[in-house]
Amino acid sequence: NKQVTLNNYVTGFPKESDMKITTGSIKLKVPEGSKDTVLLKNLYLSYDPYMRGRMSKLDKPLFVASFKLGEEYSLIQSPQLLIKILDTNVPLSYYTRILGMPGLTAYGGLYELCSPKKGEYVYVSAASGAVGQLVGQFAKLVGCYVFGSAGSKEKVDLLKNRFGFDDAFNYKEEPDLDAALNRCFPEGIDIYFENVGGKMLDAVLLNMRIRGRIAVCGMISQYNLEKPEGVHNLMQVVGKRIRMEGFLAGDFYHQYPKFLELVMPAIKEGKLVNVEDIAEGLEKAPSALVGIFTGQNVGKQLVVVARE
Ligand code: NDP
Repeated sequence: NKQVTLNNYVTGFPKESDMKITTGSIKLKVPEGSKDTVLLKNLYLSYDPYMRGRMSKLDKPLFVASFKLGEEYSLIQSPQLLIKILDTNVPLSYYTRILGMPGLTAYGGLYELCSPKKGEYVYVSAASGAVGQLVGQFAKLVGCYVFGSAGSKEKVDLLKNRFGFDDAFNYKEEPDLDAALNRCFPEGIDIYFENVGGKMLDAVLLNMRIRGRIAVCGMISQYNLEKPEGVHNLMQVVGKRIRMEGFLAGDFYHQYPKFLELVMPAIKEGKLVNVEDIAEGLEKAPSALVGIFTGQNVGKQLVVVARE
């Protein structure tokens, strides 16, 4: 058996050497007194930015605790958090992305928090990632004008040509984000789906419309900083009466059946596409995880451990 464990708590950008791959027989210890423990066979591993927080030593965790150094993670002790897969007519890996946590995040943050209407102007940052690519497509389904940003030409092309965004820009080539957004949204932004934070959020605030809505999903640009950047333009929230609301995917788990009713037919009719970036084998796990913080992944980052 192989396992990947964390060697040490991380400060700054994570490195592959922060993790260790070991081979040998692994003893899974069920904690005493625990009932309903489920042992999972891992097929696909989902790599998500929130895992960075778990790699730090957190005295006051925001919503998930730090990983324990060297610990193994295949025992699930809260089986109510597991979702039974009912429809197997789609690839299994869809349940880690469009039909899983990233899908529900995009759905809840956009539809439930921002109530987009036809013709509204929507901006999505980190738009080629697992969540962003779906937010843009969900916004297009209701007839919004959608603009996204990403960190390479390849990703910008993907946004425009595969995901149907109206337009997109490479934020690494346009350091004046305020000017870029001003050009893209001459009439301002109605809805901003926040994935990045920092300078991006500051620039967006300057370009929001009156009574705009911001779904605060994450701030990946801040996760590896020892001291987070400040946000300077928050007064815009007051003057423009902007509603900013944070949320977690888990807030919408109870809506999963409703979400499936919307998404499953759209997938089958080819109205929603989703791109994944698959690394083969557990040996690739450390580089895959590190890569999402440098933008190496194109689409949802997965590691395939076994096919069945
Ligand atoms: P992915 O792992 O699919 O993609 C991450 C992408 O973020 C990278 O490919 C990179 O693309 C971009 N990125 C990395 N560093 C920076 C940076 N410093 N500045 C700008 N962009 C950067 O991400 P997800 O779609 O899974 O997650 C997107 C956001 O949503 C994250 O902030 C995450 O924490 C949050 N999230 C929140 C959830 C919730 O429940 N609230 C649930 C799931 C995700 P590029 O090449 O474009 O830079």
